[in-house]
Amino acid sequence: MEAICCAHCQQFFVPNPRIKNQRYCGHAACQRARKTLWQKQKLQVDSDYKTNQKDCQKQWRENHPDYWRNWRAEHPKYTERNRIQQQERNRQRTFKIAKMDVSKTENFIKSGCYFIIPEPFGSAIIAKMDASVQKVRLILDG
Ligand SMILES: [Zn+2]
Repeated sequence: MEAICCAHCQQFFVPNPRIKNQRYCGHAACQRARKTLWQKQKLQVDSDYKTNQKDCQKQWRENHPDYWRNWRAEHPKYTERNRIQQQERNRQRTFKIAKMDVSKTENFIKSGCYFIIPEPFGSAIIAKMDASVQKVRLILDG
């Protein structure tokens, strides 16, 4: 049997002839990666599986109410890093919403000639959401 490259660790390994289309070696981390990918794909295509997983997780949380509180207390570095990353995700989401609002506004603007006047002469809701966004006011010329 010819050695192939593991899809996770990139190390060469000899696949088990009994496993068809084996792409992951036997290391625990690689098998975990394989299972994680399988589960991710399964959740996207199988709504029964997704519902079952949600119910199981809910049941587990109810049986272990202090687990995450204790885990965060024992891992302050991770907790701080996650807090910063969450703030960044929230900022990104706010920015996306701001962009969506702009595209809605554009649909109501009629075709014609416009002056683009930079802030602070104009005003825009988007300015409150993200100061780095280019602020313009559109005035119909005519
Ligand atoms: Zn591997």
